[in-house]
Amino acid sequence: MIKYFNQQIQNIYASKRALAKEISQNENKVLLSLHPKFEELLKIKKQTELDIVKTKSKGIDVTDLQETLKVINADIKQYAQQNNLQFTPPYLCQSCKDAGYVDGKPCECLKREYYALLKENSSLTSLPIFRIEDNKFGNIDAPQAKGMNKLYSIMRNKVCDDFANCKWNNFMLSGASGVGKTCLALATADALLDKGISVFYLSAFEFVNIFLDKHTHKQTALARKADYINECEMLIIDNFGEEPIYKNVTLEYLFSTIDKRMANNKKTFICTRLGAGALISRYGEAFLSKFTDKKYSLSVGFITGENLRKS
Ligand SMILES: [Zn+2]
Repeated sequence: MIKYFNQQIQNIYASKRALAKEISQNENKVLLSLHPKFEELLKIKKQTELDIVKTKSKGIDVTDLQETLKVINADIKQYAQQNNLQFTPPYLCQSCKDAGYVDGKPCECLKREYYALLKENSSLTSLPIFRIEDNKFGNIDAPQAKGMNKLYSIMRNKVCDDFANCKWNNFMLSGASGVGKTCLALATADALLDKGISVFYLSAFEFVNIFLDKHTHKQTALARKADYINECEMLIIDNFGEEPIYKNVTLEYLFSTIDKRMANNKKTFICTRLGAGALISRYGEAFLSKFTDKKYSLSVGFITGENLRKS
């Protein structure tokens, strides 16, 4: 789990516990009003506990008082059992009592909360769903089908199914419009999310807008996404090369983002309609080499074929 969501998760669990406590306090009030004898016992218990503290502070022996307390506690327990009284707050999760952890390990409910946050922040929820196992290139008749089919299995087997050991940091898919780049990127994102890996999918245009807000110190929701760009485990930038070049913003934030992500061993995937020549003249050779160096990159270009969006 990445640290980015720590605060949000803490808040979610704090409000779950607060709600359970509030409900239980209200229920307890009703319960006690129906059982005056029980309420009396609780009062005696409180008084005895207080007496023990006071007596102890005076240096007087409290053995007798502790014995009395034991008897009262037994009476309370017996009364509750006989009258079927329950005083446990109605936690949403009984396994962790809304703490999120059981014996120091994340509870199943915490994993579900985390996955939901990943989905919410991926920006995939507003896009069509592509599943990596639904790859249609295995049986369609398009010139790019064979290559794309191979790419699907590489992305599935070597990236999604083995993310922790995947040797590539950067991915680049370059190709003509409609050959299936975005579908593969979305299918990869979907498969990673399913495994609880944080993914942020956005267009290069959105990327620039986020950093434009950040650069001008705007406290917008958009500007806050800059942190997620840096922290997510897989960043996917689509329509790369179609963003406006703003002075002191576009290239500067792009270069520093990629450098930061590489230094932190985070993966970045770009889809572009530009070929190598156009990419070099726009971003320079040093930048392009970060996506083409076989030591740490998987780059495929330039895919040509049938425009599948037309049909
Ligand atoms: Zn739980």
